[in-house]
Amino acid sequence: MTDDKDTRQELIAELTALRQRVDELETALSEVPASEWDVFKTLPMPVYETDLSGRLLHYNDECLALFGYEHHEIAPDMKVDDFIHPDFIQETRERYARIQKDGSISGRIVPVLKKNGAVIYIKTFPSILERNGKPFKVRGTIVDVTEMRDTQEALRESEERYVLVVKGANDGIWDWDIDAEITYYSPRYKAMLGYEDHEFPNTGEAWREKLHPDDRERVLATTRPCETGKEKQFEVEYRMRHKDGSWRWILGRGGCLKNKKGKVYRLAGTHTDITERKKAEQAIRESEELHNALSRATFEGIFISENGNILAANHTASEMFGCEHGEFIGFSLTDFVADDFRELTRNNIRTGREDPYEVMAVHKDGTVFPVEIQEKTFVFKNKEARVVAVRDVTRRKQAEDRYRGLFENATEGIYQSTPDGRFLTTNKSFADILGYDDTEELIDSILDIRSQMYAEGADRDMAIETMKRHGKILDFETRVKRRDGSIIWISESARMVYDDSGDFLYFEGFIKDITERRINQRTTQVLYEISSAVSTTSDLQELYRTIHGVLSQAVDATNFHIALLNEEEGTLTFPYSHDECQEDFRKINLSELKGNCPTLDVIRSNKPLFITHDRMKCGPLPDTHSENPTAAVWLGVPLTVKGRAIGAMAIQHYSDKDHYTDSDIKLMTAASEQVGLAIERKGTEEELFRLNEQLESMVLDRTRQLLDKARELEMANQRLKELDKLKSALISSISHELRTPLTSIRGFAKLTLKDFERYFERTDEADPKLLKRSERLKQNLRIVESEGERLTRLINDFLDLNRIESGRMEWNDRMIAPGIIARSAANSVMGQFVDNSDVEFVQNIEENLPGILVDPDRIQQVLINLLHNASKFTTKGEVRMIVEQKGGVIRFTVSDTGIGIPKEDQQMIFEKFQKRRQGDTLSGVKEGTGLGLAICRELISRYGGSIWVESAPGQGSDFIFDIPIQPVLP
Ligand code: ADP
Repeated sequence: MTDDKDTRQELIAELTALRQRVDELETALSEVPASEWDVFKTLPMPVYETDLSGRLLHYNDECLALFGYEHHEIAPDMKVDDFIHPDFIQETRERYARIQKDGSISGRIVPVLKKNGAVIYIKTFPSILERNGKPFKVRGTIVDVTEMRDTQEALRESEERYVLVVKGANDGIWDWDIDAEITYYSPRYKAMLGYEDHEFPNTGEAWREKLHPDDRERVLATTRPCETGKEKQFEVEYRMRHKDGSWRWILGRGGCLKNKKGKVYRLAGTHTDITERKKAEQAIRESEELHNALSRATFEGIFISENGNILAANHTASEMFGCEHGEFIGFSLTDFVADDFRELTRNNIRTGREDPYEVMAVHKDGTVFPVEIQEKTFVFKNKEARVVAVRDVTRRKQAEDRYRGLFENATEGIYQSTPDGRFLTTNKSFADILGYDDTEELIDSILDIRSQMYAEGADRDMAIETMKRHGKILDFETRVKRRDGSIIWISESARMVYDDSGDFLYFEGFIKDITERRINQRTTQVLYEISSAVSTTSDLQELYRTIHGVLSQAVDATNFHIALLNEEEGTLTFPYSHDECQEDFRKINLSELKGNCPTLDVIRSNKPLFITHDRMKCGPLPDTHSENPTAAVWLGVPLTVKGRAIGAMAIQHYSDKDHYTDSDIKLMTAASEQVGLAIERKGTEEELFRLNEQLESMVLDRTRQLLDKARELEMANQRLKELDKLKSALISSISHELRTPLTSIRGFAKLTLKDFERYFERTDEADPKLLKRSERLKQNLRIVESEGERLTRLINDFLDLNRIESGRMEWNDRMIAPGIIARSAANSVMGQFVDNSDVEFVQNIEENLPGILVDPDRIQQVLINLLHNASKFTTKGEVRMIVEQKGGVIRFTVSDTGIGIPKEDQQMIFEKFQKRRQGDTLSGVKEGTGLGLAICRELISRYGGSIWVESAPGQGSDFIFDIPIQPVLP
């Protein structure tokens, strides 16, 4: 039973749950009446449902198609707003708001946007769905009314166009059906251009070709927007060719018709002939332009006045016075003239004055400006009127002011003067140059220019004469008197001025003060003359004199002295002085100097000194004679060389303390350096001259001494030569004299030895004492023999050398192969090597050597000597003789493996009687004469060859000599 109960419980619970689920589903079903929408959505038209906020709940396929969307492109939260044309969104929102408020909604036509952006018009038929008596959603259908709407629009526009055409019905009418390509021109249209109906083809071309070429672009630019539909209407004025060839002005108006798609399919409009109107307009414009141009083109302001009242004024007048055209009317001319000039102007108008006069005019803004007025009476509108020309002369006045400024401020003196010698006008500079306070004083004072102004009246005559002949003078340099009587230099340029009828009126010109320049010229001249005096004068005294002369031309140098300071000696000398009151100036010892010495002051300070009487205490020169009157004025300048004062030069005047002017001081100062230099140079020149003379006499002395020496040397030389000859003769005679007895000595020694051996030796065999003595005797005889032989060799060598040196050697030169000489030399010495097995003799003689022009005996002698020496100083090894060609020479080499020769001896062994002490003491070696190599050198040098040794101690020696293949004979 328990089981049953449980099962029932479970069933009840299951049922309860099921019932709950059914309830839920029912509720859901009642909220979404899906079946109803399913039916609805199948309607063959766009249908939709939204909630009360306008959110899209449902839509059918037609709806999507209308708006051009796919299903998946509709987002769940999309609202009606997203489809409505932006201009209508606000209205749409208000509609939905109203549903909430009063539960009402009505259909409407509203533009919406398709997905592709195109605008379509739809008419909606919405209804509100209620639940529980309350609106909860909107459901509606949609109809696309776009086409219907376009048609209505086109109708409206067409109506407008009709009105337009009707309005211009009196004019020519044209109509162009673009799609149908039909053009229509009304007969009136054609007649307007002078054509009968049939004469003017109904084509677009007919219109285009009659267009004025200048207007074509403009016309097409105006009509084109209408053709493309951008504009609805156009209006344009242009010219068309009349049948008679004239141009007619046409006012063309037109409009367009568009089809449903907005494409223009028809243009139509009217033509009005406006030629006459255009002509009239043109005429007016031209007349206006002319008037305007005339009114503006004048430089004068022109007024027309009647009884002093302005009737009209031109444009220039308006500008001149700053008034609008109309502002003049009704005013009097005098209203535009400054107060001071009113009366004058009024008078002139009244009296009808015709020549110009100047007054100050008043601008509208109150400014005053100068004008020139000229008037004339003439008839205007049948009445007598005045035409008044007013010219603004501000610029002219300014220019005049400027010129006056130029005239007054010019540094040149400018003047106008009368033919009878008085000044008409001068500027301030002119008065300044001539030393007058002002121009008035000058004009009043000078009544005869020739005598009062010119230093030389003749100069003025000459200037006038030149002007008369050439019309002018240019840079005429002359001297004139200043008011204070001083003379200055001026440069004058002037011309003669004539009136229109050619009568001479006055002189006009300007002057420049060129005193400074003239002084500079004078100074330059003085400097030049002083510097050239150095080369034209022969000594210092003459130079001083010349300097004095040159200075005298430029300044009063009656009293003039030159002083030179010698610092070493401590003296002041006066190498040149010229004075009215004093004899020559003495030399001053500076140590003894008492009181002032202006000359020394000048030198020490290296500055010019200008002293007038009042300041001069003890006269310029303290050493002067006691009766010397004190000078009234003293001017000293230092004489400098490279900035150092070497002395001074001074001028003085005894009576007139104003005797020297500034320009004199300047001149003296300027000249001082040049004088210093000149003196220095002249001094140096003299010194040089003196030195030169000294030098010359020294050279002469030396030359004489040298000549004496040379003569002595020559004599000594002569004597030497004679002595040498004597020596050679002596040597050769002595040698011969020696040789003969030597031969006897050697011969007898030999003979004695032989005889002794043969006859005495054997008999004394038994006595050993005697035997020993006989041995010594034999030995001594051998020594006599060998020493005799050595002496003979020495004498032979001596004779050889003597012969070569004294040029008495006989040379039997002939062309011979070097190999022949070498081989026969080898044969001569061969014997020396045969006995000695320790030393090998080797010969290397190149084949086919070129021949040399030599005395074969002499070269052989050289080789034998070298080979002999080699064998002499070699105990072991080899002696090698090499003969080969080396470039332009045949090279003979004798090399050995002997004792060698140290470097320091290699040069010396070629000298006469040179034997090396150490190393020569080889046992068994015959003592040499020390002449062999000296002779070799002499022999080889005769053929232009050379001999030398390459050796080192213990290393053997190479004696080498070269004989040129091309003979170099002395
Ligand atoms: P001498 O007749 O005395 O040999 P030379 O003029 O021929 O005179 O030689 C001068 C010196 O040169 C010799 O005394 C010797 O000292 C040195 N002399 C010459 N030839 C050789 C040689 N081949 N080796 C070493 N010394 C040499």
